[in-house]
Amino acid sequence: MTKFFPISQPSITEREIGYVSDAVRSGWVSSLGKYIEQFETGFARYCGAAHALATSNGTTALHLALATLGIKANDEVIVPNFSFVATANAVVYTGATPVLVDVDERTYCIDPASVSSAITSRTRAIIPVHIYGHPADMDAIRELAARHRMFVIEDAAEAHGAECRGRRVGALGDCGVFSFYGNKIITSGEGGMITTNDKELYVKARYLRDHAMSPARRYWHTELGYNYRMTNLQAALGLAQLERIDEMVAHRRRVMEWYRQGLGERPNLRLNIEEPWAKSVFWMVCVSIEGMTDQSREGFMAALRAAGVDSRPYFYPIGDMPMYARADTAVTQRISQAGVNLPSYFDLTENDVSQICAVVRGVLDEMRFA
Ligand SMILES: *Cc1c(COP(=O)(O)O)cnc(C)c1O
Repeated sequence: MTKFFPISQPSITEREIGYVSDAVRSGWVSSLGKYIEQFETGFARYCGAAHALATSNGTTALHLALATLGIKANDEVIVPNFSFVATANAVVYTGATPVLVDVDERTYCIDPASVSSAITSRTRAIIPVHIYGHPADMDAIRELAARHRMFVIEDAAEAHGAECRGRRVGALGDCGVFSFYGNKIITSGEGGMITTNDKELYVKARYLRDHAMSPARRYWHTELGYNYRMTNLQAALGLAQLERIDEMVAHRRRVMEWYRQGLGERPNLRLNIEEPWAKSVFWMVCVSIEGMTDQSREGFMAALRAAGVDSRPYFYPIGDMPMYARADTAVTQRISQAGVNLPSYFDLTENDVSQICAVVRGVLDEMRFA
């Protein structure tokens, strides 16, 4: 095979190039400019949220959301143990403690029952993660949050356009947080966004994002703020991508369907599921293989790479990492070592996916798991 399939690549068209060139030429290269406003307004509308605030990346969006909600030392924030590490790191930045809980066997999203048993008198917030593009069960989470007076911050970094019972993610909690890193559903290079229906939260987050400078008195700061702004250049790229998001999401769903055709019939192999109440945007194609371990997965991924197919291991349990306390989460421990992500991006064709599936089938035939 001559072609190499990367795990991910952005789709850049003349629209992106045109907007970014225009932003550079305009001289508005920092964090003022028309693209910021258009990107924020357009993204809020897309999510069905009243407000959106652009940030420098998804991690700063998470931290800013937590800081805006007043999360601080001695507070506890419930986070799924199966996520990208930034979800927990952002909690630590505030001085609060992330409490790592288990995930649902089917969706890999936070398990409401595990949340329930982790709630203490110090719990202030919960961060459901819409992992690999599938929404968490927001109805169950919202109900728990209401009963125990906890804030809900959706980590939608991987799930732009996903839906929970017909409603887009991002406006289903107190606020939503998105990432526009190069491998996400849409990209601005680096970038993030907070979405919310809460005007007060939005105004406070905007103020903290801009060094907490007094609106009435320049260079006067009444509290500790941050510079978490997005540049107009990034927003130009982001806006061009946002204008194409429907076709991007539709294509990811098509790619998933092609993978189902190529691999769906294999015994001992499982692909992403989609709950009847959910619309997933399939950010990553997830292949779980019965009997695969962290060690045998290395060989599997090396064999794929040698045949021209890039892959990634699933996320490791956050609590397994040195800076976190180990968490007792049986589902997370089991699923995290049993799977890999396969290439999924806008420019993949049906023929590409069928080639990739042939490689995967060939490697599986040679290797024995379980
Ligand atoms: C990518 C990601 C983030 C962080 O976003 P960055 O823009 O890379 O800082 C946070 N949470 C999850 C679940 C992610 O996948």
